[in-house]
Amino acid sequence: MRKKISIVVSVYNEESGIRQFYKHTKSVLTGITEETGWDYELIFVNDGSRDKSLEYLKEFAALDGEVKIINFAANRGHEAAMIAGIDYANGDGIVCMDADLQHPPEAITGIIEKLDAGYDVISMIRTSRADAGIFKRITSAAFYRVMNAMSGKTRFENNSSDFFAISRRVGLVLKNDYRERVRFLRGYVQNVGFKKTTQEFEASARVAGVSNYNLKALLKLSLNAICNFSDVPLKMGIYAGVFSLCMAFILLIYSIVQYFLGNVPSGYSTIIVVLCFMFGVLFMILGFISEYLAIIFAEVKGRPIYTVDSVITKEGEELQ
Ligand code: UDP
Ligand code: MG
Repeated sequence: MRKKISIVVSVYNEESGIRQFYKHTKSVLTGITEETGWDYELIFVNDGSRDKSLEYLKEFAALDGEVKIINFAANRGHEAAMIAGIDYANGDGIVCMDADLQHPPEAITGIIEKLDAGYDVISMIRTSRADAGIFKRITSAAFYRVMNAMSGKTRFENNSSDFFAISRRVGLVLKNDYRERVRFLRGYVQNVGFKKTTQEFEASARVAGVSNYNLKALLKLSLNAICNFSDVPLKMGIYAGVFSLCMAFILLIYSIVQYFLGNVPSGYSTIIVVLCFMFGVLFMILGFISEYLAIIFAEVKGRPIYTVDSVITKEGEELQ
């Protein structure tokens, strides 16, 4: 039997580039099918787009038996869309990629070769980012450094992206065991174990439209990722406590010595500085604790990661 690769594409307000994406990817995939002997399915997850994206996707599905649309009832974010795509995929390998052609479909040939060679997780590493400014590059490098320093045994590939491929069995592990509400899919993919490898690709600029990730979304993602994989921030209180006790002790000795020397220190500025410092540390720690509390709260509520409105294929639309 021929093997099949499932391509998962998350789509959110991509009306300006989605046709071009489909046309290009389709022709590349047709070539790849002949070359490698693998079949494919193209799963578009429509993440509650508010533009014409769904309309266009339906056009593709109406004519193309290889296209399947998972239509969300509401916007749930890129990660949720990828998770849904993995849940609905039934190929021997699954590739997650963006709908803006920043992830070149040509790379799928190499992915299939690696899957054939028995690899289970293939992280795609960007060698260059055509549209990323110096700011994004520096923050992204800093983020991976902090992540790796804080998360113990787990390891994150620098410059890894939301472009990755996994084997069917890794897909099953993600589907059955990694159901956290607050999540960092890239991190899970790199740390489920199994046989891992990397493949390089050159990220091009978006074909059309604008990036949906703004600074706030990126900050939220980073904070979630850190709190999800590390308990270092939670333990910071201990270090801060020890540090401020030492400081207090030194100040105490200093004050006593000054007292016996006859000059009683006025101490106004000392008090202000120490007070501000202590409150700063205190509130930061409180903030971190709240962050974990929020994660626990989200998990305890146990709401679904995504809600599917309908699944659309050439055969028609099936309401869920
Ligand atoms: N995306 C999504 N839901 C969202 C935001 C984005 O499914 O709420 C999709 C988007 O359509 C694209 C991918 O996630 O296919 C990556 O988004 P984007 O290109 O905006 O991010 P960037 O490449 O700038 O990191
Ligand atoms: Mg993009």
